[in-house]
Amino acid sequence: MTCSDHQAPDSNGSTPNHVRTNGIAPHHHHPQPIVSLDHGDPTMYEAYWKKAGQRCSVTMSGFQSLSYFGDGKTLCWFMEKKLEDEIRKLHKVTGNAAIDGKHIVVGTGSSQLILAALYALAYTLDISNPVDVVSAAPYYSSYPEMIEFLRTGLFKWSGDARCFDKDVPYIEFVTSPNNPDGSTREAAVMNRGQLGMLVHDLAYYWPQYTAITSAADHDLMLFTASKCTGHAGSRIGWAVVREENVARKMVKFIEMNTIGVSKEAQLRSASVMELISLSCQKRKPCDVESFFDYSQCTLADRWKRLRDVVTKNQLFSLPKFPSHYCNFRREVVQTYPAFAWMKCKEGIDGERLLREHKIGTRSGRRFGWEAEYVRVSMLSRDDDFDLFLHRLSTIQPTANGNQN
Ligand code: PMP
Repeated sequence: MTCSDHQAPDSNGSTPNHVRTNGIAPHHHHPQPIVSLDHGDPTMYEAYWKKAGQRCSVTMSGFQSLSYFGDGKTLCWFMEKKLEDEIRKLHKVTGNAAIDGKHIVVGTGSSQLILAALYALAYTLDISNPVDVVSAAPYYSSYPEMIEFLRTGLFKWSGDARCFDKDVPYIEFVTSPNNPDGSTREAAVMNRGQLGMLVHDLAYYWPQYTAITSAADHDLMLFTASKCTGHAGSRIGWAVVREENVARKMVKFIEMNTIGVSKEAQLRSASVMELISLSCQKRKPCDVESFFDYSQCTLADRWKRLRDVVTKNQLFSLPKFPSHYCNFRREVVQTYPAFAWMKCKEGIDGERLLREHKIGTRSGRRFGWEAEYVRVSMLSRDDDFDLFLHRLSTIQPTANGNQN
């Protein structure tokens, strides 16, 4: 089964009347399959890991890692010590998060930790009504989807943080850099007083995507191997948590949910992170290429080519990002988000138009935004990215323009 097989159409599959695709010449006879850039599947990183060869291969014998328990001594009783060590080392090397004195909780992807965090925060509030959960639009489409799927009595999705003005406790997801639009963010609910609890989803706060301007130092921060190392298939994420009681409740959630996290995945992720940290050292082995240099260069090249195509065909626009001094690189760097947040010309349904041209993207509507916008993954394999650019460059306004 390929990604495109389970590529979900928009939640309700319909298109608002005011949005149209007329005025643009569709390609009627494309025998080729859709190039699917809907998911943020990080296969771009395969090329780096191929070059790394056997350096972080992990082999395990039949007698190893049978236990439910990890070999560490922290409150996260199923975590492998080597994984915790490598997580802490990688944060030190990149300087992206303040971790000293904080608890690490490993999860089956940061997806599991999103729910664990909501459970822990809502539970500690101990109120009878479900806690409102918000995030500033455009927000990561999985937040509402995961929350609504669960139908729990502990928390409920309450939409765009910028519209939230109730005088009750709430939880806000602050995603920075943001999925889908790549912007750097801070909490958006105004006058939050003591009522708001924040979850900082820092899945993309790594040096290949953006400048590391300071060590993030929030109460509850989420990270994932999926977007850092590219190993989404290992399903390893981790939370950095200040309060012990919150960390313990998150561990309890994972215990009730999956009784821990695969040891194979933990050890493989640890060995991959170990190589990344090594690759950042000045005195690294000469056959080890800097992971962050490699991935930043690849993204920079893709963003440049995408901007060229977009400038030429005049149908789309892309966000611009400010440059900042990066403490990790010790120079001013540009931002190269993992997704392109493309805006189509006024009144045109971006997802529909691109689908007609055999490009699979995710509609702005899934992110609480307008249908002119689409999110496109920048992390595909080279072949797919090249095909995407080629197809994008062939989309032309019809002779009578793209007005009504
Ligand atoms: N948070 C954000 C902002 C994401 O973009 C993603 C992946 N798309 C996740 C969390 C979940 O990642 P995973 O479950 O693979 O760790």
